[in-house]
Amino acid sequence: MNELATRDVDAPTLDVAAIREEFPILARQVHGRPLVYLDNAATSQTPRRVIAAFDDYYGRYNANIHRGLHTLADEATAAFEGSRETVRGFLNAADSREIIFTRGTTEAINLVANAWGRANLKAGDEVLISRLEHHSNIVPWQLLASELGFVIKVIPVDERGVLDMAAYRELFSERTRLVAVNHISNAFGTVNPVKEMAAIAHAQGALILVDGAQATPHQPVDVRDIDADFYAFSGHKVYGPTGVGVLYGRAVLLQAMPPWQGGGEMIRTVSFEDGSTFAEIPHKFEAGTPAIAEVIALGEALRWVSGVGLDAIGAWEHRLLVHATAAVSRIDGLRILGTAPGKAGVLSFVVDGAHAQDIGLLIDQLGVAIRTGHHCAQPLLAQFGVDATCRASFAAYNTLDEIDVFAEALTRVIGMVR
Ligand code: PLP
Repeated sequence: MNELATRDVDAPTLDVAAIREEFPILARQVHGRPLVYLDNAATSQTPRRVIAAFDDYYGRYNANIHRGLHTLADEATAAFEGSRETVRGFLNAADSREIIFTRGTTEAINLVANAWGRANLKAGDEVLISRLEHHSNIVPWQLLASELGFVIKVIPVDERGVLDMAAYRELFSERTRLVAVNHISNAFGTVNPVKEMAAIAHAQGALILVDGAQATPHQPVDVRDIDADFYAFSGHKVYGPTGVGVLYGRAVLLQAMPPWQGGGEMIRTVSFEDGSTFAEIPHKFEAGTPAIAEVIALGEALRWVSGVGLDAIGAWEHRLLVHATAAVSRIDGLRILGTAPGKAGVLSFVVDGAHAQDIGLLIDQLGVAIRTGHHCAQPLLAQFGVDATCRASFAAYNTLDEIDVFAEALTRVIGMVR
């Protein structure tokens, strides 16, 4: 609690009631009770104007982008490229050509592994990955390592879920090529010192890829300030749609990388006699028709979240976290996993004598949505001797009253299963 309270909450406050009005789904009932949605780290809900962007696109200017000469194609292209510029501003990237649209964080990391990794990693090289990672920042590297023979070294975490920075420094060797680390842990909420980690990696001649899936919804991100070489995030965790995400890459790196997926849009010329030549970035990495409506809606989501203000959202979520932590701490036999100072709005816990799955199912009957399971972070959970936790995670539209409903429901449910 004391550690939690150390985070500065001196930011502008949110008009949460007004924010809630913008999310139609929050008015629904689940099993006859008002929905209390606390599964935001998995997927956040979507404001009306993001939903409206789909209606507008399909109702008014649905057309394939870039290649058309007609009005609809022009309008769709302008909106799509407008989103790229919105993402550039959102991340404070220097150049919108550094913004690649993907299906999500997972595809963004696979892109780096397959395009940059294949061209730059060889047997004996080393890649550093933290134990806090989501599987999507582990498995692509394992798949590639088994082919190319490079070595994956794991940055350890302590009992609070904090990265061991002394161990991190010591893991480097002259063969270290890349650090792959998340900005915020989805399982524990730990905020990693990615700027410091980038500086250390660069001093050692290595690159850094930051998985920002959990950071972009909760705090302002500046890829140039971090000095990230690659930064990935997903639309559906930042009040946007599923099926779209972003890879930011430094232009000079992207330009030097070979394409990953081949097809339309990413070529300059194609010939059976002379082979193919490729488009400039970002198009070189956007083969085929992209998720046009989703990209446009993502732009809308980022404009929405920036308008509300990520500093204010982060501060509000911190209040929710402090309140929730105090409330669940009163429950007998409940243990919180992940107690990093300044952690984000993620509350992971296990309860003696009550399996996470049972808690998740029963609390849903009371209208409360939380996530239970390994959260795609099995190596992390294994260190803590558990295979599943319950996780409540917060967003701008959650209220202190909802936290009380959650805590009460949790107490009731635990009483039922024990
Ligand atoms: N990285 C982190 C930290 C995540 O929390 C998630 C999703 O939970 C992912 C990556 C994968 O994101 P997506 O499934 O949108 O590709």
